[in-house]
Amino acid sequence: MMRISRVAWLLQVPLIAAFSTSYKAHYAKRVAIIGAGAGGSSTAYHLARYAAEAGISTNITVFERNTYVGGRTTTVQAWNDPLSPAMELGGAIFVEVNHIMMDAMQTFNLSAAGHDVLARLEMPDLGIWNGQEFVLVTKAGGTWWDTAKLLWRYGAAPLWTNRLMKSAVGKFLTMYDEPVFPWKSLSDAIERIGLLDVTGVTGEQYLKANGIGRRFADEVIQASTRVNYASNLAYIHGLETMVCMATSGATAVEGGNWQIFAHMLKSSRANVQLNTTINRISKRKDGSYQVTTSAGDTSVFDDVVLAGPLQYANLAMDPAPKHVPDEIPYTKLYTTLFSSPHRLSPEAFNLGSGAAVPQYVLTTLPLWEDSVDGVGSPGFYSISISDAGTNPHTSPRRFEYIYKIFSPSRVNATFLSHILGQKVSDEEAAHGDVDGTVSWIHHKIWYSYPREYPRVTFEELRLDDGLWYTSGIESFISTMETSALSGKNVARLMRDEWVSGRYKPEGWNQDPAYEVKQVQM
Ligand SMILES: Cc1cc2nc3c(=O)[nH]c(=O)nc-3n(C[C@H](O)[C@H](O)[C@H](O)COP(=O)(O)OP(=O)(O)OC[C@H]3O[C@@H](n4cnc5c(N)ncnc54)[C@H](O)[C@@H]3O)c2cc1C
Repeated sequence: MMRISRVAWLLQVPLIAAFSTSYKAHYAKRVAIIGAGAGGSSTAYHLARYAAEAGISTNITVFERNTYVGGRTTTVQAWNDPLSPAMELGGAIFVEVNHIMMDAMQTFNLSAAGHDVLARLEMPDLGIWNGQEFVLVTKAGGTWWDTAKLLWRYGAAPLWTNRLMKSAVGKFLTMYDEPVFPWKSLSDAIERIGLLDVTGVTGEQYLKANGIGRRFADEVIQASTRVNYASNLAYIHGLETMVCMATSGATAVEGGNWQIFAHMLKSSRANVQLNTTINRISKRKDGSYQVTTSAGDTSVFDDVVLAGPLQYANLAMDPAPKHVPDEIPYTKLYTTLFSSPHRLSPEAFNLGSGAAVPQYVLTTLPLWEDSVDGVGSPGFYSISISDAGTNPHTSPRRFEYIYKIFSPSRVNATFLSHILGQKVSDEEAAHGDVDGTVSWIHHKIWYSYPREYPRVTFEELRLDDGLWYTSGIESFISTMETSALSGKNVARLMRDEWVSGRYKPEGWNQDPAYEVKQVQM
């Protein structure tokens, strides 16, 4: 509930009620967007702009079943304290080539999150742990490349990987502009820009085919695919592997990335209905859609955008659209945030007592362990110190570290006791104890992203006339940026259809000439 009040000023819901049909609204294109995450917010934002440019008025309603905007981009307050840092639970980082996110951050005057406290911590930045030893430890201010390329251990592999990544990202970026943008078929667009060869093979195959040394791939690149997509190189496609290495200019919004999407919605002047689940979309005889909420309210729209994975939308579509997105496996990921006055125990990482464990502990499989489709012997994907500060609930106040763990199962007392080298009780591991080893803890389970297995075909964007889908892009690349790009693309396709004839002005259904035009399209 706290989040509702926090976003209320940003949304400033227009006075047109979602389920009323005012005279003015009757002249406007009525659009329902289901989902207020990156995809849905970007659809609303770009649609409002494209429609305005074309002189088309719109009445956009965004339905969101959560009580907050952002979907998988969401924060919780450390120590449950509104004045303490907002911690990202899901989409945490975006990078300089993420043009929609970067531009929005600037347009909406949002600040980048600072890491003042962390800069003062005296510990190595990053270590890659294989369950037995750290295969790489760095202490640098720059990117992976600044540090990794210097290492004799990997020869020229970092340099070649960087070139390979730049080539793949360069091709991807052509999707933002004409003639590729807007694309009607994601599969065709990916073929056109020459990335099918990259999505159609595993990261392991792609790196080998391009001469990247096995040691660098297994130790460094795989650590990145595991922290970003909970996946080993043999189970993630080549393009998503390259995305994991595109870390230049990584940033986040102070107070939470969700603010980008809240600002997009506010700017679109969409009517945002939080805490509202849509459970049915029915196509009517005149081609419009009746949308029904779980409370039984109905309303009618000319176009509907489904802006979240269909398989988790609990949505009936009646009749079934021409294209029904396939159900695909998603990663079940546990995100755990917790605070403790203790640093990670060096003994837990086979370091000498007194040694500092790196701030970011990424993991990979040991070279002797066969690649598994899972976490393997390290048992977790990453542990990082995301922030640090004074716990406002402790007396006397005490300085604590705020940790984030990505793991394939729920973090328990045994695991926490091991990594902290301090006794943690079951109760603390479940709920925290203000005076204990773990003072605050937040557990979250996500269906975080698809298992990014190799593939060469991708879901349709247009599921039927007037019915759109943004989430097919996740099997290509699953990030806040790509969902936002997919929303922008759908918005442009919708506007183009309206302009070229599907735009139905008042009285269109009484005009036989309009019907003829429709058939000829
Ligand atoms: C742990 C984790 C870490 C991540 N890290 C990063 C990262 O560092 N950088 C990055 O770029 N990406 C990251 N991602 C991925 C990124 O968060 C997602 O790709 C992106 O946020 C997806 O946005 P979306 O709008 O497509 O979907 P979602 O965010 O899932 O939004 C869909 C929305 O639709 C709503 N909805 C669904 N069905 C209904 C219904 N029937 N009625 C009403 N509402 C409905 C949902 O409640 C949800 O809010 C991460 C994800 C996770 C989980």
